Amino acid sequence: MNINPPSRDGALNSPWQYNFDNTPPKPAEMQSILDCLVVGGGITGLTAALLLQQAGKQTAIAEAHTIGFGTTGGTSAHINTFADTTYAEAESAFGEEGARLFARAIREGAELISNNVSTLNIDCDYESKTGYLYAEDEEQIKQLEEIYTAALKVGVPVNYTANVPTPVPFEKALAFEGQAQFDPIKYINGLKKAYIKAGGILFEHTLIEKVDSKIGMHEAHANKLLITAKAIIYATHMPPNISVFNFECAPYRSYVIAVKLKGGKYPDALIYDSQEPYHYVRTHRIDGEDLLLVGGLDHKTGHEDPEKAFAELEKYTKDYYAVSSVKYRWSSQYYIPADGLPYIGQMPLTADGIYCATGYNGNGMMLGSIAGRILADLVIANDTPYRQLFNPARIKPIDSFSEFVKENADVAYHFIADRFNVKKTDSLKRLAPGAGKLLEVDGKKIAAYKDEQGNIHALNPVCTHSGCIVAWNAEERSWDCPCHGARYDIEGNVLTGPATRNLKTITDDES
Ligand SMILES: Cc1cc2nc3c(=O)[nH]c(=O)nc-3n(C[C@H](O)[C@H](O)[C@H](O)COP(=O)(O)OP(=O)(O)OC[C@H]3O[C@@H](n4cnc5c(N)ncnc54)[C@H](O)[C@@H]3O)c2cc1C
Repeated sequence: MNINPPSRDGALNSPWQYNFDNTPPKPAEMQSILDCLVVGGGITGLTAALLLQQAGKQTAIAEAHTIGFGTTGGTSAHINTFADTTYAEAESAFGEEGARLFARAIREGAELISNNVSTLNIDCDYESKTGYLYAEDEEQIKQLEEIYTAALKVGVPVNYTANVPTPVPFEKALAFEGQAQFDPIKYINGLKKAYIKAGGILFEHTLIEKVDSKIGMHEAHANKLLITAKAIIYATHMPPNISVFNFECAPYRSYVIAVKLKGGKYPDALIYDSQEPYHYVRTHRIDGEDLLLVGGLDHKTGHEDPEKAFAELEKYTKDYYAVSSVKYRWSSQYYIPADGLPYIGQMPLTADGIYCATGYNGNGMMLGSIAGRILADLVIANDTPYRQLFNPARIKPIDSFSEFVKENADVAYHFIADRFNVKKTDSLKRLAPGAGKLLEVDGKKIAAYKDEQGNIHALNPVCTHSGCIVAWNAEERSWDCPCHGARYDIEGNVLTGPATRNLKTITDDES
């Protein structure tokens, strides 16, 4: 375990990041032309790169920070046979065959993980568990019944049960056998080891700023490095810079705490309620002691107060469990797709041979893994059974996903309002140490953070991706864009795409 873990894309530490493999990769040797460059070193990138390398393709991974820096280092790592987009919702938008294929993708993603764990002998706390989903009122019971019927229809085993290991009173519940949990960083460390052993090249601290395409060849630019490849995979969770996905995916923040209990049994299961936003609990043994992981309370990035979300999560946990201490608290970001299914395949409006995967909702362990396989299949054989279903260029009506419409309606508002007005104005003097705020000083908008020594870190608050105004996230000490989810640290450095350029410091801006 690392005492000082390498950083994630936020100030809070997840328990997984203490297991980051921080041995620096062998100095990467440039190949003249790669078969494929994989951009991004999370579960999607590592899965795709390993499969390609095992198939005899010469690949490199370019990761802006270090392996696991993104959401894979801040996930809660449940492996499920059901998904946030229910099979009933998938059927209503994509028909019965579409829902069946979606269920197959989820199952194959989960199987890919368990096969890797056993064939590569990865020690990552992988354990099979039963998953329980319960309803607390009439409306939730109706949803639960729909979930039950649609799951059976697509071949996912599920039963009603009266026994759920939860202290929360409930009305009706489902049991899904054969779910699982693991430590995501120990898992991708195992993929990385196998990838390097198979001859894979790894560039860390290498942010790909842009790609220029010539016939059948792509040149990826990173600071002073130029990487040439026959194919490019954006495994960046959200492809960088402006793309159609800025209008088809909404960025969400999600919260997790890991607590020690005074007494009582830690549940040997994965348990979910049906509230909106929902809560879940599971147990993970970390450093020799059981901890209860409690998560949820998701909201659109930059739209609600992260301090309030953590306070509510802690209160909810204490209402039902005898908590002796909170050992970890962290949050991270995921993307809700407009029509409910992920976008995996040839990237729209780019040259042939540039692929991407995004919009996994909260199911990126399975969908990121299957995306790795789909993208590898496209690079190797130009074929996959999922080509049409997950085609990133598909056009589907989005009105059945009212959550997406509701939450994304404000993007247009921010595009306009942010250019003219910073609502909160204040003076620099009133800024408390350790706090960040949007201020107006001498008629100029600034994103100001005062550190513990009283130094002001002043940035231009205009997001470099598409010009919205960033919002302060006091928990992760980051500036988060409410439009498309780009995030920056207190110095303005990009933490999370789609931005690839840092926020300007006020001095940069003035020069
Ligand atoms: C709190 C939370 C809990 C979750 N729980 C679950 C769960 O229980 N089960 C489940 O299935 N899913 C869950 N998810 C979703 C899941 O964690 C994610 O979908 C998944 O980790 C995404 O993996 P990824 O590899 O695609 O992206 P990431 O892990 O974000 O990796 C992308 C990488 O790309 C790098 N990058 C970005 N831009 C560039 C660039 N221009 N150049 C170079 N590198 C770049 C980033 O630094 C990053 O390391 C959860 C999500 C959250 C937020």
